[in-house]
Amino acid sequence: MQNITIRASSLSDLFDCPQRWYARNILKMWMPTNFKARLGTAIHAGAAAFDQARLDGAPITADDAAGVLVDTLYRKTDESGEDEQVEWEGEDPSRYEQIGLALHTTYCNGLALEQDYVAVELRCENLHFQDLGLTLTGTTDRVYRDADGKLGIADIKSGGTAVAADGTVNTGGHKAQLGVYTVLAEYAIGHPLDAQAKIIGMQTGKTPKAQRVAEGYIDGVRQALVGDDDDPGLLEHASNLLHAGKFYGNPRSMLCSEKFCPAFATCKFRG
Ligand code: SF4
Repeated sequence: MQNITIRASSLSDLFDCPQRWYARNILKMWMPTNFKARLGTAIHAGAAAFDQARLDGAPITADDAAGVLVDTLYRKTDESGEDEQVEWEGEDPSRYEQIGLALHTTYCNGLALEQDYVAVELRCENLHFQDLGLTLTGTTDRVYRDADGKLGIADIKSGGTAVAADGTVNTGGHKAQLGVYTVLAEYAIGHPLDAQAKIIGMQTGKTPKAQRVAEGYIDGVRQALVGDDDDPGLLEHASNLLHAGKFYGNPRSMLCSEKFCPAFATCKFRG
């Protein structure tokens, strides 16, 4: 069976709309980075600088780490030096800088200090599933240790629907991705991850009241991914889809929009 390599971060895209995954990952169709996506990247970068410093035993303040967030928000190239322009759609970038900094400060001075992280942005090289003809690769957000000493995945998710007004984190739709991160991290650190997977949600509301940071949990992410003899996991579904080459479209996807899909102009699945 031919082997296909898939980035962990793209698996949820594959399930959400295989045709969009195909356009992005196989056809390499490019589109400008949406400002909301860039805000998320910047929030991640600032939080990672803060968490990594604590993990290294040389803590820095939220203010110190905020510079990384700001630099990432306005950068013109990606990590590899490739041109990466942001489409601001007439929005004022400084407004989003303020949103990002507010969430960053809340996280760094609150939830971040309660976490016992054992890895931050852990790079995981090629995990092969020979029977499925798949190789997983990617970077997991965080590995944390819970109160019982068990390890688990923690993933920061930012966005306009990340945390409800009552503080409930929106954990829907993240099971496959957290399952991949779990098996990748287990492979990378050589230790089982038995604690619940957790999402640290950051709600990017425009008013201070709507800028919330909270955590929520998801059970059974590894089981959902790898399945068992009676109930194939999502990885097997992904393998079937990729090897069959049946990249159907999902016009009901939340990301079915010219802002987020590079295939939007030509996609025949939109009807
Ligand atoms: S336009 Fe919609 S259906 Fe077509 S590939 Fe993009 S997200 Fe999928």
